[in-house]
Order: sequence, then C-alpha cells, then structure tokens
Amino acid sequence: MKIKRILFYLREFFFPAGCALCGVTLTSMDETWYGLCGSCRNDMLLCGGEEESCDLCGRPLISEKGRCLSCRNGEDRHFDRVITLYPYTGKYRKLLAAYKFNKNLAVGCFLAERIRESVRRLNITEDFVMVPVPPRPGKIRKTGWDQIEYLAKLLARGQAKEGKKFYVAVNNFRSKKHIATSAENIRVSRCLKRLPSISQKKLNREDRRKNLKGRILLTRTPPKTAIVFDDVITTGSTLDACAAVLKAGGAEKVYGICLFYD
Ligand SMILES: [Zn+2]
Ligand SMILES: [Zn+2]
Repeated sequence: MKIKRILFYLREFFFPAGCALCGVTLTSMDETWYGLCGSCRNDMLLCGGEEESCDLCGRPLISEKGRCLSCRNGEDRHFDRVITLYPYTGKYRKLLAAYKFNKNLAVGCFLAERIRESVRRLNITEDFVMVPVPPRPGKIRKTGWDQIEYLAKLLARGQAKEGKKFYVAVNNFRSKKHIATSAENIRVSRCLKRLPSISQKKLNREDRRKNLKGRILLTRTPPKTAIVFDDVITTGSTLDACAAVLKAGGAEKVYGICLFYD
C-alpha cells in the first residue's frame, strides 16, 4: 500500500493533470493512468461498439440487418470485418482531440486498451499481427508526431512507455484479471508505407479511392492474418486500400479496428 501511494504521488508531482473530458482533478491511480476521471471513463466503457453493427464495416445499423446499405450495394471491400467504437461527435471527438492534438499520452493508454478489447471481440482463433495504418508523410511534418504509431508502441509493449515498470508494480496490487488483460504483448508489423498524397479530408468517396491508388505500399511480407488499425474511419477507403495491398501481398484475412467512425 505504501509503495503504491508513493508512486502515485510521484506521478502526480511530475505529471499533474485533470480529466481530459470534464477537467476535474484526477484522484486515483487509475484515473491518472488513463487521463480520465472515473465517471467519464465509465461513460466511455459503457458505450462503444456494443450496439448492432454492420458485420463488414462496423458502423452501427439503423434499420438495416446484418450489413449496412453502403456495404450491401456491392462496394468493393477487401477487409473481412471491421470493429468501430465511437461516433466521432461530442465528447468522443473531444477525447480524440485530447490525444491527437493536445498529445495527452494518458488518453493514449485508454485508447490502446480499447483497441485491445476490440481485438478480443474479433474472436480470431489464429495468430494475428497488428498493422498500423501508415501516416501521410506530410502530416507528420505538420503535426510533429504520429498518433497511430504511439498506439502501436503501447500495444506492442503491453504497457505505456514512460510507466512500464511503474505500471507493472501498480498492477501487482490489482486483481489478476486486470494483469491478464493489460499486460499481454501484441505483435505489430509496420509493413505498410504511404507515399505523399493530398489530404483525404475534403475528398468524396470516389476521389479518396483514386487519391490512394498506388500510394500505399508493402515494405515487407505481410502477416497471414492482419488487423489494421486507425483512429477514425470515414468512408473506409484508407482501410480498404491497406487491406487490398495486404491481400495482394499474400495476407489471407484482414480485419480492421477503428476507434471512431465519422
Ligand atoms: Zn471527467
Ligand atoms: Zn457497412
């Protein structure tokens, strides 16, 4: 108990922070670790990906059954199944902004955990490797960091970089279940790269597809079963372009996990 407290105060001393969503002072170890207060975190844990969703692209279904309209209308999809968690609106948007634009790395820990959970929900029985969606070269120059790569690191390490030993120590005080769900390492392969192209943001579905054509390349042999992950899915063209390249290179199954859908 004593060590737990000391570590907690040390962390608070060096990284004092409020909740990324509501701003209240964070008071427990869990809260500071994830950068969210208990009630905001519970809110986030309660929803996200539980409603009925398209078995292909992961979007929630409104009146359709099994598959959403755009997936049913014969759109070319190279991925086998995608899980998405949150609508890219309101507090969910704020959560991503805290991580992506304000570089709140604690929120990154929370998002990485949500990706792990989604992996479990995919129920894949074979060995898999996670593949981050490669960033647009110009984008990193502009924002200075690659938020997907940071998540990849968290997934591969099983714990956050700056708190690895600390986290293991803290986890020893927690239930066995928590250790089991947060410490497993996931294999990550950065086998895709992206050539410079213009930003997808203002393009429509068809132009997005054209814009990406030939712009995503394999840098090494892809895994047999890949789970591509990204932060936001809009039309799904980026994910699909990645899946197409992976499959052309020999991958048999390609799944996707996106934290937010727009
Ligand atoms: Zn809060
Ligand atoms: Zn769909």
